[in-house]
Amino acid sequence: MGMVNEIAQRRAVLASLAFSTALLAVGLVWARAATGAARPDATKQASTGSATRAAAGVAQATKAPPASPSSPSIAGDRDATLSRMARGKVITGATSQRILLFTFDDGPHVGTTPRLLDILDREGIKALFFVVAHRIRTTGRVHQQQRDILRDIVRRGHWVANHSVNHRILPGLDPTQAAFEMNEAARLIELVTGARPWVFRPPGGGRSARIDRMLESAGYTIMMWNLGTGDPFVRTAREVRHTFGRVLERRARMGSRGGIILLHDTHGWSVDAVPMIVADVRRRNCELLASGDRELYVFLDDPTAFFVARAEGDRPGADAPAAALPAAQYDALQTRERQRAEQYCVSAAASSPLNPSPCLSPRCGEWRRASMDRTARTAGTSTSARPAGASE
Ligand SMILES: [Zn+2]
Repeated sequence: MGMVNEIAQRRAVLASLAFSTALLAVGLVWARAATGAARPDATKQASTGSATRAAAGVAQATKAPPASPSSPSIAGDRDATLSRMARGKVITGATSQRILLFTFDDGPHVGTTPRLLDILDREGIKALFFVVAHRIRTTGRVHQQQRDILRDIVRRGHWVANHSVNHRILPGLDPTQAAFEMNEAARLIELVTGARPWVFRPPGGGRSARIDRMLESAGYTIMMWNLGTGDPFVRTAREVRHTFGRVLERRARMGSRGGIILLHDTHGWSVDAVPMIVADVRRRNCELLASGDRELYVFLDDPTAFFVARAEGDRPGADAPAAALPAAQYDALQTRERQRAEQYCVSAAASSPLNPSPCLSPRCGEWRRASMDRTARTAGTSTSARPAGASE
């Protein structure tokens, strides 16, 4: 027992150490790049256009034409690549409301992403996918399958954004290489989905004033995250779920009530953690309701809550203020979630193997009666005569 605990503890310490080290490394890259970018950079803005066109031209010449005619956009009228979110301030994930957005980086991956899409459908959740475009680059079999998965992401109502071609840390690249990473990825995503992406997440979170400037002059909104799960540094879904829970609480203590969740759909354990995280958030809602707090966590169906347009004279990389939906919209989401919670707080506890705890609230009886009334109403007269206490 003691031994097991000790091992578990040691693993947790190691995982958080690895996570902190990675954060530190990113921070160092950022700091170094930021200092570097403070030097006069003669090529800065001009490089974006010409270098990119050159890079895209080279790519165009060496790439086969699209295998299937995918344009116009397979999303139809849906704005799957978020053109509404072009030219925004940097999104940090900070928010004054209990809103949550799932983001998945580094896919699509033939081994893991399809399963994730089924899970998201089952949970009724939409997410934003940051695509690493080398996965859809060639007409080889796996890349073709991954192109199909990317189209499926869009068809199922999720959003697609740019996460570079090769996942290289951008501040370390020269302007031509950096422009290639941004523009070639956009071209490939457009080739497959029919629309260019407008939101960008720098690989590894590596930013500099120069990179911010390049992205923003190409019209991108940079989206970071505030709810990291450390999922690249662990090997089990339980660890991912545990880190998420701790980070959510820590952010709340620091004044940010929800935010943007970062996971990687290239890891099986990250995919497995998604239903656990959803169940934990819903259980947390039950606790909030039980404690008399009527503001619950809601998963967003729309990432624009985090968007704030850039203003004239904003410095490159200026942060957006803490996200907040308009009051009426937020109230409507809260009302819907409270109605749902009254049902899942009684029934989900019993039915979900991930959430085995019984209903803990003093209001369980009230919710159970409301839930049964609703069931009776929707079932009509034939079943309303069911004996009281019939199980759900
Ligand atoms: Zn990444």
